[in-house]
Amino acid sequence: MKAAVIHGYGEAFDTIVHEDVQTPAAGPGELLIEVHACGVNHCDTDLRKGLFGVDSPMPHVMGVDAAGTVADAGAGVTAFAEGDRVAPHFMLSCGACAHCRDGAENLCEAAGVLGVTQWGGYAEYVRVRHDHVVRLPDALSFEDAVAGQIPFATAWEALIEEIGLRAGETVLITAAGGGVGSAAVQIATLAGARVIAAAGSEEKLEKARALGADAGIDYTKRDIGAEARRLTDGRGVDAALEMTGGAILVGAIDALAAGGRLATIGAHGGERVEIDFIELFRKHVSVHGCGRSTKAHVERVLGLMAEGHLTPVIHRTFPLREAPAAHALMESRNFFGRMIMRP
Ligand SMILES: [Zn+2]
Repeated sequence: MKAAVIHGYGEAFDTIVHEDVQTPAAGPGELLIEVHACGVNHCDTDLRKGLFGVDSPMPHVMGVDAAGTVADAGAGVTAFAEGDRVAPHFMLSCGACAHCRDGAENLCEAAGVLGVTQWGGYAEYVRVRHDHVVRLPDALSFEDAVAGQIPFATAWEALIEEIGLRAGETVLITAAGGGVGSAAVQIATLAGARVIAAAGSEEKLEKARALGADAGIDYTKRDIGAEARRLTDGRGVDAALEMTGGAILVGAIDALAAGGRLATIGAHGGERVEIDFIELFRKHVSVHGCGRSTKAHVERVLGLMAEGHLTPVIHRTFPLREAPAAHALMESRNFFGRMIMRP
């Protein structure tokens, strides 16, 4: 099969080579999936450069997410048949620990990651264990399935499952112009919440408003806590989804009303912050960590996408042989929405 392969880590985009490699075979309990679309993620560019923190055996095929059709089912697989439309869940949970047995496989501490600990979606075929696969609704395109899986499932897990956002509440969403942020704006709007988007430019806030946000805070110009209180008649927000870290995380905690809940899902802008814990217990606010979604919640958001309630934003689709160009665009940060590749 053709695949976009790396033979070692490298800063240069042409570290990725489009070439022939051995097509994997479906072993017992596994599926071989013919890939129709795969996604380009920030973790792929980190991995190419050797910055991901996990040593992948070389040669390696990246690609955290993919969607396609079952090409072959290994011995013992009865739940799927050739031609079924499917997508692997990027989190390869162990299936045996107490969390996995409880259906909370997002808490599995022995999980691998597709495209990191085993060959991923940058190829004509990908091999995965059958219990790591979700079925795709017929109405959902392969491109949308790839574009939506990680951002919508991550935002759903944090907003709906972790901090229990309810209709009528006000929620602050930071980095609202980004992939997960724009997905979160749609989910919060669908849940019936009032959305205050926060982002680093008026252009990004405009995009968040177009997706349903009711108000915006440009945090390069205004204090998040003070502005959130002004927009809520002095009360503060009931809930917040924060993915930046640093001063923005501190501002989002400050924006919470008494009893407010905050979910933190990222910290590229500052991993260590100073928090006044007196404010936390005085206001009864809680901070929840959330990083990964369960397979069941991936299926839930894919269903909502197929019904037209959630719409992933695709910036551009590349042929797989142009993976170096896709990585260059990812690193330029000059895009809005997901980048997709087709083998
Ligand atoms: Zn497990």
